[in-house]
Amino acid sequence: MIIRTNSDKSPTRTSPCVICKKQEDEHKPEGHVFERDSSLPLWHGWHALRRGIATNPHTLGVDDKDIQAILRHSNISITQNLYIKSVSASQVSAMDSLSESLNYAMTMQRVG
Ligand SMILES: [Zn+2]
Repeated sequence: MIIRTNSDKSPTRTSPCVICKKQEDEHKPEGHVFERDSSLPLWHGWHALRRGIATNPHTLGVDDKDIQAILRHSNISITQNLYIKSVSASQVSAMDSLSESLNYAMTMQRVG
């Protein structure tokens, strides 16, 4: 599927159908509904990719000046204020707990 985001007008592709491997925009009703391959990450746009490129090294202790250079920002405040998302260990733990409880609820719903 080709999608266009509000911030980026260049076309991007999403995950193919897990059953027939066709992209969503090429997918026709061929006896099944389009089912995105959930083993592949969901595309959230170029800004989200750049936020991940900034946040993950920051979490690993990479100096913000190096992250600024990687993202080619002229001013480090842009990198720190707009791209690095600080996430505390307790926030990660809370989201992991939420994910586990949702997975459990979805599993129980499928079972019966
Ligand atoms: Zn398909």
